[in-house]
Amino acid sequence: MSEDRPVQGAPPEARDRGADTRSAPDLQVRGEPPSRVRIREVGPRDGFQNEPEVIATADKVRLIELLAKSGLRRIEVTSFVRSDLIPQLSDAEQVLAAVSLPPSVSVSVLIPNERGLERALRVRDRFHEINGFLSASETHNLRNVGRSVDDSLSGLERTFGRALDERLRCEGVVSVAFGCPYEGQVPRSRVFEIAARLAAAGAAEVAFGDTTGMANPLQVREFFVAARESLPEVELTAHFHNTRGQGLANVLAALEAGISSFESSFGELGGCPVPRGATGNIATEDLVSMLHEMGIATGVELGALLDASRAAQKVLGRPLRSHLLAAGPVDWRPRR
Ligand code: ZN
Repeated sequence: MSEDRPVQGAPPEARDRGADTRSAPDLQVRGEPPSRVRIREVGPRDGFQNEPEVIATADKVRLIELLAKSGLRRIEVTSFVRSDLIPQLSDAEQVLAAVSLPPSVSVSVLIPNERGLERALRVRDRFHEINGFLSASETHNLRNVGRSVDDSLSGLERTFGRALDERLRCEGVVSVAFGCPYEGQVPRSRVFEIAARLAAAGAAEVAFGDTTGMANPLQVREFFVAARESLPEVELTAHFHNTRGQGLANVLAALEAGISSFESSFGELGGCPVPRGATGNIATEDLVSMLHEMGIATGVELGALLDASRAAQKVLGRPLRSHLLAAGPVDWRPRR
């Protein structure tokens, strides 16, 4: 099925994907890329949760602190998903209690539902933001969290309401926003409808996840041009996985659509519990390197970030997959 997808130009099929009549942006129009972007490091959550070997709490804490040292100002440090579902992150409270981060770092935690939030609120003073997630397609949501999309939305509305009472910033994450491994196309109008409900529930930011790496750059540019029109009041964040090697191309497309907020994982850690094999967030170091080479500021010191990824390799006992770990930063000095 994937073989006959359009690969270039602006074929009508590509425009029909997501079947939305709301807008048909001219693909030739390119905005100025932003001069600075915000990056949220999600490796300690999206990455660690997919590691089969249990990572010691002290190692997690050390790696998170190394990430902060690189200048990252947004870090998703853990999740309050039930411990029996994701044992790897069952030490959420201990990680939050032990980690020492500069006040400039905004700490976020992933919250699956109201019960998870109640658990997190016992350590309320240790974080600043919550991330509540659901999938854009019914089948993925059902397989991932065992609920309908509508039930997830209702739960998130209550969760965000409670979080706002606690003066927590809320981010909504919409998984499989660019395509679903079970259902195929996900109507863009449906994705925006879900995002609008999250915004109405109090989300200051909505991230759109290409959870299994199905998105292509043309699709991404169209998507975010339309998303900015549809959701002008919300911070829009792109969360790409590099499953098929298109993550950074999709970043460029999102930049061209005016997006300046991204999520990524150091060392290209990460994945998704369903389906198996849906691996790999884009690597933060690859993202930072590309942006810096393009003259876009991130606030991140690449060498320090690579130190964190090398430390993660030692902890996990295997080489990680980012390009920068293999090749090192670009060096423009002439050699002979
Ligand atoms: Zn992800």
